[in-house]
Amino acid sequence: MTRLPFIAGNWKMNTRRETAVALARAVVEGAGDGGKVEVAICPPSVYLPAISEVVAGTSVSLGAQNLYAASDGAYTGEVNAAMLTDIGCRYVILGHSERRQLMAETDALVSKKMQAALAGNLIPIVCIGETQKERESNRTEAVVETQVRGSLAGLDDVRAAAIVLAYEPVWAIGTGLTATPAQAEAVHAMIRKLLGEMFSPEIAAQIRIQYGGSVKPNNAAELMSQENIDGALVGGASLQAADFLAIIKATA
Ligand code: PEP
Repeated sequence: MTRLPFIAGNWKMNTRRETAVALARAVVEGAGDGGKVEVAICPPSVYLPAISEVVAGTSVSLGAQNLYAASDGAYTGEVNAAMLTDIGCRYVILGHSERRQLMAETDALVSKKMQAALAGNLIPIVCIGETQKERESNRTEAVVETQVRGSLAGLDDVRAAAIVLAYEPVWAIGTGLTATPAQAEAVHAMIRKLLGEMFSPEIAAQIRIQYGGSVKPNNAAELMSQENIDGALVGGASLQAADFLAIIKATA
């Protein structure tokens, strides 16, 4: 089974309109026709319409960083899946560890959002990963299994193949620490085996699992060469076009 590698840039709460548009233009130009790697950029929600114009008709897709799992209604300050597809989003990041930690998002909430995303024709990038304390106490596999089962609860075989998972050890996010290729591959292989039990081995072989956690131009190639690593969710390095493009190149 060949899975098309997928590199997504999570800009988090960074950039202003001018820098966001310039960064998107540089990514579009550098990514060219795409082909060997799928690329998406996920700007802050207020800049999605501006970036949507930049990526329209190019090989670069647009992603949001969050959504609210309800149809239109009295939900002050929130944005739903229909609104995100309306402005050109293809992807939405869900359950990022920063949201799990700062906004107390649970697996149950992530599952609701994942189902709302799919119902609204968005592809969810569902994030999971253990903390340093959990790794040090040898609970990585148990924690990741609980997160995968909980965050994907209610997902059926038909829709499962479309989703993307991002394994992001919390201790490696924004810290400059990276899981070694062997450490990351071990967890990715475990996740794929688990997906084979939850769905079927055929579906599990189709689901892309990104790695995230201080992916940089100098460590991307080795991480991306691992059998079960199908691309990366990139934070800090996605804010510099040259670095992000170098990571894409290292993946191709
Ligand atoms: C992320 O926030 O998803 C991430 C992986 O960040 P960084 O690349 O900065 O570690």
